[in-house]
Formats: sequence, C-alpha cells, structure tokens
Amino acid sequence: MTDNAKIQQSNSSLSQIRKGVQAIFLLGTYLLGLRHIMPGESAKGGAFDAFCPFGGIETLWSYITTGHTLKTTNLLNFAVLIGVLGVSLLAGRAFCGWMCPLGTLQDLFAYLARRLSGGKKRHVRGRRSKARFPTPLPLKWDKWLRYTKYLILVVILVASTRSIYPPLHTICPARAFFSFQLTTGLLWSVLITFIITSMLNKRFWCKYLCPLGAALAIFNKIAPLRVVIDKERCTHCGRCDVECPMDIHAVPENMRSAECVQCLECLETCSVPDTLDLKLG
Ligand code: SF4
Ligand code: SF4
Ligand code: SF4
Repeated sequence: MTDNAKIQQSNSSLSQIRKGVQAIFLLGTYLLGLRHIMPGESAKGGAFDAFCPFGGIETLWSYITTGHTLKTTNLLNFAVLIGVLGVSLLAGRAFCGWMCPLGTLQDLFAYLARRLSGGKKRHVRGRRSKARFPTPLPLKWDKWLRYTKYLILVVILVASTRSIYPPLHTICPARAFFSFQLTTGLLWSVLITFIITSMLNKRFWCKYLCPLGAALAIFNKIAPLRVVIDKERCTHCGRCDVECPMDIHAVPENMRSAECVQCLECLETCSVPDTLDLKLG
C-alpha cells in the first residue's frame, strides 16, 4: 500500500469513528427524551430542558442574581454546560462536529436531500455532487447571515434577565425533535422549518441561527487541538471546500475559522500527503 493510500485509510477510519460518536449521542438524546415521557420519570429527573448545555447559559443570570434557576432548568444544565466547555477548551467546536444531536440531524437531512435531488448513491469524496440540494447560499448573503446567530445570542442573554422560562424554550429545535412532546403549533413549525432548511442548505441552523454555536465560536481561536495546514504542500485543489459541512469558503486560508466544527472532513478528503494534520499545541 502506498503512503498516500495509508493516509487516506487512517483518515477514513477517523471519519467512521466520528459518525459512530454522532450516532451514540443522537441515540442517547432520543432515549433521554423517551425517558421523560414515561409515567413519573419527568418528575424524578426534571424537565427535558435540564439536559441542554445552552439552558446553563440561559439560566446563569437568574441563578447568580436570585439563587434560583429558570423554570424547566436546574443545576444539571450547569454540569452539562461545563462538560461542553471542557471539550471546547481542548478542541474548539468539536461538540458541534461530533456530539450535538442537532448537528447530526442536519448532516442526515443534507444526505437525504442529496440522494433525493439526483446525488449518486456512493459519495465520491472531494467531487462536487450533481445533486441540486443542499446548495450553498450566495457568498455575499452567507457572509452577513452568519452574524445572525451572534445577534440571537445577545437577544437571548438580555431576555434571560427578565424571563421565567429559558427564552428559547418555546422554539427550541431540540425540544421539537427529542422531547416527544410536540404540543404546540410553534414547535411543529420549528421542526418543519428545520428539516426543510437543513435539506436546502448544509447545517443552516448551525451556520446562521444557533446561539450555542455562537457562544462556542471563540474557543476555535484558543483551543490547542486543531487541524493545521502546511501551506507549502497545499495545491488549492478545492476538495476540502467541497466537503466542509459548514460551507467554509477557502478552507486552507481559514483553518482557525470561528465556523469550523472540527469535523475533520477536510483532513479526510485531502489527497496530498501531510498537508492537513490534527495537532495539539
Ligand atoms: S451550532 Fe448549535 S445546533 Fe449546530 S452543532 Fe453546534 S450546538 Fe449544535
Ligand atoms: S488542503 Fe488539501 S484538499 Fe484542501 S485545497 Fe489544499 S490540497 Fe486540496
Ligand atoms: S474546516 Fe475542516 S474540520 Fe472545519 S468544519 Fe470544515 S471540514 Fe470540518
């Protein structure tokens, strides 16, 4: 086996491991949701919202100022948030690329859209699919829309100082998908919109709307574990741009992008040996 083939094989195993980890977290979240609709279980374990890391951010102000968490959240939110922050301190937004069930769902819907809109059964790495969807937004729109999630984060932080429930509570896609309690028209609309946008555009929610993604973005600038590039070797073939689930433009120039979810798809697809590498420090 040539060196190149060996590199491709080991990178491919990395991608399989990531998909396995994503599947475990997705399944685990569904099990948590199921547990909460079992008779008497909700009362024992608190509301479904208590497992959300963003709930820890939403309830922080209330806890600091009154000693009480917002309704449907509790101290467990802080524990989950600390776990996510620990991952982020080490590996930037790896939580988004490896663990978040909403990120995984968006990857699945993007895959489904590709298959339904003319994509090949077997994905050919680094080659632009002939499928019509998902398709990126025009660069000019994309650039400005990405700031929306930071605005949403600020609005939620301000709203959380006056709320009784976490501000995202009624429109949270995690509740829509995993709580098995689609009790309002609003949650149904969120669920349907989430599915449609994820099929039209890769990780639409992550790129443009998610306040947790916005809060974690800063860690990409400081985390020691990350993908590094040897610019001398890069041929600017564009394969990594094609594979990037976050539609990061010119990946080799933006390895420290706040948008990167550390999924390692670029590492897997790069066919020039030793150009991209995962490094600590
Ligand atoms: S950006 Fe938000 S929805 Fe997307 S993977 Fe990260 S935490 Fe999950
Ligand atoms: S990093 Fe690799 S895949 Fe990306 S442009 Fe350079 S050579 Fe191509
Ligand atoms: S730049 Fe690479 S690691 Fe980051 S999101 Fe894109 S493909 Fe994943």
